Amino acid sequence: MGILLTPFLVVAGILLEGSLVKLPTLSKSVIANERVGVIHVHTRASDGSGTVAEVMEAAEKANLSFIAITDHNVAMTASDLAEDPPDLPIISGVEIGTNAGHFLALGIPPSWVQPRTKNDRELLAAARAVGAFRILAHPFHPFTPWTDWKTSDFDGMEIWNEDAAWRQNNFFDLLDALLLYSENDQLALVRLASTPEDNFAKWDELLEQRPVAGICAADTHARIRLGIGKDWRFPGYVPSLKVAREHVLLPPDAGGGNPALASAAELVQALKEGHSYCGLDSLYPADGFSFRVSSANGSAGPGDTFHLAGAARLQISTPSGASLPLIKVFRDGREIDEQEARTINESIAGPGRYRTEVFLPQPGFSGFRRWTLWVFTNPVYVTAN
Ligand SMILES: [Zn+2]
Ligand SMILES: [Zn+2]
Repeated sequence: MGILLTPFLVVAGILLEGSLVKLPTLSKSVIANERVGVIHVHTRASDGSGTVAEVMEAAEKANLSFIAITDHNVAMTASDLAEDPPDLPIISGVEIGTNAGHFLALGIPPSWVQPRTKNDRELLAAARAVGAFRILAHPFHPFTPWTDWKTSDFDGMEIWNEDAAWRQNNFFDLLDALLLYSENDQLALVRLASTPEDNFAKWDELLEQRPVAGICAADTHARIRLGIGKDWRFPGYVPSLKVAREHVLLPPDAGGGNPALASAAELVQALKEGHSYCGLDSLYPADGFSFRVSSANGSAGPGDTFHLAGAARLQISTPSGASLPLIKVFRDGREIDEQEARTINESIAGPGRYRTEVFLPQPGFSGFRRWTLWVFTNPVYVTAN
C-alpha cells in the first residue's frame, strides 16, 4: 500500500505546488532605455515547429520588445522580416553549423547565402564580411559543443542556453518538470535552470584577452520529435520566450530619440558592444537592474570602459519587488564579494574586469534556499588612467 501511495503523494505534491505558485506576469519594457528580447529562436524554416507569424504572436504574448530568429543554415527572407511591428523588431539571424560547433550570426542581410563549407574559420570570416555579430552557440552542449578555441574571430558567446540547460538535468528533475508543465509551464522551465559554470569559466578566460559579449539564449524549437510524423510542441514558444531574456541598454538617441523604436541594427550594435545583461525573467522581471562603476568624473555600465582616476564605487541595484537576492561580484574572473542584499555600493580596489551574477531562490515551498541564476551582466572594464 505504502509503495503505491508514495509516488501518488509525490505527484500530488508536485501538481499542488504547480497550482499554488504564481510567477509574475511580464510586461513590455518599462525602462526607457532598456529593450527586452530573446535571442536564438527556430521556426519551421529549420527544425522549429512554428511559422514566423506564430513566433511573432508568441513574442507579443511574452511581451518582448525584440526577437532574434536564427534558423539552421538558412537566412530569413525580406518578406519574413517584413512581419515585424516597429516596437518588436526581428533581428535577422542564422545559426551556422560548422565542423567545430554552432555559431549565431545576427544582423545578416535578407536571403544571405552562406558559403558551402563546414570549415568554421571560413564561415566565421564570411559572417564577419557582412558585418554580422557572431556568437558561439551552446559552447558546452553535451552533443554539439564548440571545439575550436584557437580562433578569436568571433564577438560573443552564449553563457546561458535554455535548450542546453534543460538537457543537463537528471531524469527525476526532468520528470518533475514534465509533470509540472501541464499545471504551470513557467514554473516547470524555471525548475530546470542551472548555473552554467563551464560557460562562465571559459568566458572569464576569454575576457583576459579581449572583450567578448556574453548573452543568454533561448534556443527555442517548440518541438520534440516523438517518431515518424509525430512531434510534441515542448517547451512551447510562449513559456520558452519568458525565461532567458536579454536586456539591451540603449543610448538615449537610439530610435531617433525614442529607444522604444530602436531598430534591429541599433540593437545588434548594442549587443555586440556588451551593452546588455541577461535576466531569467520568469523568476522575477529584471527590468531596471543596474550595475555601474561611478566616480565624481562619470559612470560606466556593462560593456563600457571606465578610466580610473581617484576613488570609484561599484553600485548594484536590483528591482525592489523581488525576494532578497544573493549578489556575487567578480573581478578578473575571481569572486571578490558575496552578499544577500538588494543593493551594493562599495569602493573598488583598482583596475580590472568587474561583473556580477545574481541569484534568487526558486519559488514555491520546495524551492527554499535553492539559489537560481537570475541575472548576469557583461563586464565593466576598469582601466588605470
Ligand atoms: Zn545549435
Ligand atoms: Zn539552435
